[in-house]
Amino acid sequence: MTKLVANWSFPTAIRFGAGRVAELPEVVAKAGMSKPLFVTDPGLAKLPVTASTLRLLSEAGVAYGVFSDVKPNPVESNLEAGIAIYRQGGHDGVIAFGGGSALDLGKLIAFQAGQTRPIWDFEDIGDWWTRADADAIAPVIAVPTTAGTGSEVGRAGVLTNEATHTKKVIFHPKMLPVTVIADPELTVGMPPFITAGTGMDALAHCLEAWCAPGYHPMAEGIAAEGVRLVLENLPKAYADGTDIEARAHMMSAAAMGATSFQRGLGAIHSLSHPIGALYDTHHGMTNAVFMPHVLEFNRAAIETRMERLAAYCGISGGFDGFLARVNALCAELKVPESLPAFIDGLDMDEERRQLIAEMAVVDPTAGGNPVELTVDGALDILDRAMKGRR
Ligand code: NAD
Repeated sequence: MTKLVANWSFPTAIRFGAGRVAELPEVVAKAGMSKPLFVTDPGLAKLPVTASTLRLLSEAGVAYGVFSDVKPNPVESNLEAGIAIYRQGGHDGVIAFGGGSALDLGKLIAFQAGQTRPIWDFEDIGDWWTRADADAIAPVIAVPTTAGTGSEVGRAGVLTNEATHTKKVIFHPKMLPVTVIADPELTVGMPPFITAGTGMDALAHCLEAWCAPGYHPMAEGIAAEGVRLVLENLPKAYADGTDIEARAHMMSAAAMGATSFQRGLGAIHSLSHPIGALYDTHHGMTNAVFMPHVLEFNRAAIETRMERLAAYCGISGGFDGFLARVNALCAELKVPESLPAFIDGLDMDEERRQLIAEMAVVDPTAGGNPVELTVDGALDILDRAMKGRR
């Protein structure tokens, strides 16, 4: 069997393989950091995997600070608190350690600590990123502990604006981590719900990238292989969290999702973002709840493309075969059958329904959907997700 260890430089430097977190002190030195801030989340901060990683730094004599006040779906107050600690500690870079929430917040701290304009001035709209002082952006080393968001290879961070209850994407090319340590052993402790949700996030990224219109054959190739890796390995990682080979392939698929979605995302994300912002749900699991419904909604526009993808993944029956596989995967991973089954006490009155649909159509991902996403279309998808899977 091929050894699942390698060094890649696409889209950034990636040290891939089980046990490679041991190289963290060397990576810190290479990045020129003498006093990094280690950013993680409060749940992870208590786990042995974090203690053993910090021990590596201590034993190598690295003077680091720790910041862990990071909510799942991080908010502006988390960012402000992190920046205060970063400045007080005189830090010169960030080690972002965790799932998408900690990775994003770590990247945002390194980005924003040297800026003078408010963070919302750097939302991913047109060329707003050029407003930033690029020289003031600190380097980031990303060490993912989930396999889903691919934030470790992305140039953006997602932050919830609590005032408007919206999830905003903050973008700058220099937010791309200088080095990634992708060590699948770090993901072994993920509980099944997080394994499933993050894995379905990777699938949603690859799938929406595959379906987005536009010419980007490189991204298409990466997306197709990412889909195959998830379909073959997520059930194994879910059934046996210690299956390092399956965990390794999922870690690759996560990075491939975020690399390929340069091509665009679509309505899975457009609906999932308002639900996440309003109900604080897990991002990947929310994507999973919407996935079959968005595939059906987009059917006419993607049927031929999906035949090709199904064939590549060894699934017979074209679009219908692929959809059946997604539904079976959702059942196997215990993805909630519907939005009411997912969100306790969900009250979807008419006003809420309209609000979610209106938020979905202005979400930046809506433009990548292969069918134009109108308010009526978003309502249709929302209603299907309220009823549940077939
Ligand atoms: P997460 O980072 O919110 O983590 C979820 C939970 O899993 C936390 O409680 C955490 O403590 C726990 N956890 C993480 N690793 C663990 C491990 N190895 N063992 C045990 N527990 C572990 O979840 P996520 O799905 O990785 O990230 C979601 C966030 O990422 C959302 O805020 C979403 O908006 C964002 N996101 C960003 C991008 C991007 O391109 N930057 C893409 C997709 C999603």
